[in-house]
Amino acid sequence: MKLAHIGIAVKSLNESVPVFEKIFNVNASKTEFVEMQKVNVRKLHLENCDIELLEGTDADSPITKFIEKKGEGIHHVSFEVSDIQSKLDEIKEGGIRLINETPVIGADEMLVAFLHPKSTNSVLMEFTEKQKQD
Ligand code: ZN
Repeated sequence: MKLAHIGIAVKSLNESVPVFEKIFNVNASKTEFVEMQKVNVRKLHLENCDIELLEGTDADSPITKFIEKKGEGIHHVSFEVSDIQSKLDEIKEGGIRLINETPVIGADEMLVAFLHPKSTNSVLMEFTEKQKQD
């Protein structure tokens, strides 16, 4: 399993993207709207993982709520797996609580599923699986 990306909750992509571009010296991807989470996403591709900047687009977006409660900062850490459903089944069997028992479609058409932070020392963890392209 490898680190896929680190998700960072920001109030404004317009303000944050230039800062992260300067730090990493790469251009961010163009903005992608993820309907399910009501977020705008821009990614910076680094050598071994991505930085995913997340901006809520609605008062009831999980990102907007997160920022209200905790402020901006690291929102989740994402790990890439090859078979997300069997991984979810395996850890659920092992007593780990899940937010998503079956994966949903996230940014870049990836399959994603969140683990419940109550099971993971308050760290919101996500699994992702690249969908096969036909
Ligand atoms: Zn993510």
